[in-house]
Amino acid sequence: MNKYQLFINGKFVETKEKQNILNPSTGKVIADTGIASLSEVDLAITSARKAFDEGEWPKLSLEERKGFLIKIKQGILDCAAELASIESANSGKPIKETTFMDIPSSAKAFEDIANKFESYLHDENINVSEAAKANLRREPAGVVVLIVPWNYPLLIASWKLAQALAAGNTVVIKPSSLTPLSLLILARIIKEAGLPEGVVNIINGSGSVIGEALCSDKRVDMVSFTGSNEVGRQILNYSSKNIKKLTMELGGKSASLVFSDMDIDTAVNASLCSIFLNQGQMCTAMSRIFVEEGIFDKFTKDFVAKAMRIKLGLADDYETQMGPLISDAQRKRVIAFLEKAKAEGAKLLCGGKIPKAQDLINGYFFEPTVVVNVNTHSHIFKEEVFGPVVIINEFSSTEEAVRLANDSDFGLASCIWTKDLSLAEDLAKRINAGTIWINTYGMFYNELPYGGFKQSGFGKELGREGFLEYTRLKNIVIDQTPDAKPLVNYWYGF
Ligand code: NAD
Repeated sequence: MNKYQLFINGKFVETKEKQNILNPSTGKVIADTGIASLSEVDLAITSARKAFDEGEWPKLSLEERKGFLIKIKQGILDCAAELASIESANSGKPIKETTFMDIPSSAKAFEDIANKFESYLHDENINVSEAAKANLRREPAGVVVLIVPWNYPLLIASWKLAQALAAGNTVVIKPSSLTPLSLLILARIIKEAGLPEGVVNIINGSGSVIGEALCSDKRVDMVSFTGSNEVGRQILNYSSKNIKKLTMELGGKSASLVFSDMDIDTAVNASLCSIFLNQGQMCTAMSRIFVEEGIFDKFTKDFVAKAMRIKLGLADDYETQMGPLISDAQRKRVIAFLEKAKAEGAKLLCGGKIPKAQDLINGYFFEPTVVVNVNTHSHIFKEEVFGPVVIINEFSSTEEAVRLANDSDFGLASCIWTKDLSLAEDLAKRINAGTIWINTYGMFYNELPYGGFKQSGFGKELGREGFLEYTRLKNIVIDQTPDAKPLVNYWYGF
């Protein structure tokens, strides 16, 4: 069995406590990893703090930091097949997704920020008045804790890590204890890239055991969190003890609006992708689809027919279109949502069951599921399921479509499908979500800021704004009066 160690202060560290890692396709143990105790958390923060305060990393020239980022990108590409295979085995993502999306996109995160961050970082000089000028200077935030979820383990970690390192920070990263393997391989790549000791520390462990120590420590300047609202709230509490800078990328209950002028095949195919990719375990999953009256019946019929043809299979099979959910607990959660939805009047059109095929029986598979007639007050309409379950409801006017889309505590993303681009652009302004996709879904560009409104969190990831989250802005005011005697000198100038 493969063994993985934590990475602290530039060294692989053997821990007393260990954890078995399961393959969600088979339910079998595939690896054994170390788990950080509180003393290893302390060691990781100590080494990140020392690397920031006394080390060379924040002082390197931008060109030198860029060189390291490009080496990490190359390291990921050199190990792409190994990373794709381990990411699929650990997370249940079909190998086609990890091979063509997760791993190359992770490498690209390092490459794009390496090529861009210099243009994001310029200082600004402002002549405030004749008497004063100011220099606004971007500095690294300091020691940054990065906490990532299990649904895109390497990709989300790479977004955060690439931006944090480019800005000159030192970091402690904590993957989900369900999916630490790809990040522990990244540790090897980082070591081979020759980053100074302590700049990147990767510790695995249960959030409920080590989360508070990580997020409340005085020596940590910032926490960048992606995950659930429940844990986000806990981190807000922990970090309040010593007041930290935070970014929170939380959950969603995103709405897709399909207008009747849209080509139905395109709308159905794209909508399938917008909910069933990654088994529906996407923060931006379009879990509420609203279809204009007139095409509702045809759309729903075609959608269900195609959903039933999605090929479930083991994550390491290139033919697989949908893998298992991350865990048995996650599958139970999805089933509980469906039971409640049915009790609240929703009608199940397809799915809703654990597949019986012999090769899938030990994994955490669940059929693609469609429900209609969903009451807007019901739990399944309001809460994030995070699984392959979609609501399809009807709307009869543009006003109703906007109202339904905005009827959520979340505000992460939304899709609009119509040939009428002026209508789409008008709706895009009225929908209360941080990202709006018009006639497309899931297009993340490293150049564009991404992040939610309302309870989907605050702060941005990616783009100039996302990068600047990992910096702090210093204002240096310089007096320019000829004899250097500003007003304050005279106030008590006895
Ligand atoms: P989660 O909140 O359970 O876990 C996220 C991370 O927090 C993991 O590393 C976990 O170990 C850690 N954690 C758990 N308890 C903690 C604690 N008390 N203190 C500190 N850390 C703790 O989320 P998940 O189940 O891994 O991921 C699914 C959730 O993530 C969904 O709600 C999804 O919408 C959200 N998500 C959001 C985005 C986004 O960009 N908005 C992207 C991906 C996932």
